[in-house]
Amino acid sequence: MYKCIKCKKVIPKLEGTVRCPYCGARVLAKIRPDMVKRVQAR
Ligand SMILES: [Zn+2]
Repeated sequence: MYKCIKCKKVIPKLEGTVRCPYCGARVLAKIRPDMVKRVQAR
């Protein structure tokens, strides 16, 4: 799962090349699908 830094869109799966299919930027940030999970602060 990747996120485009330029247009802030999430790309679930890349096909071949690492490039944003929306704006064509090659700068993508790797993100985890389970980012919502939080460690309990107690
Ligand atoms: Zn983009």
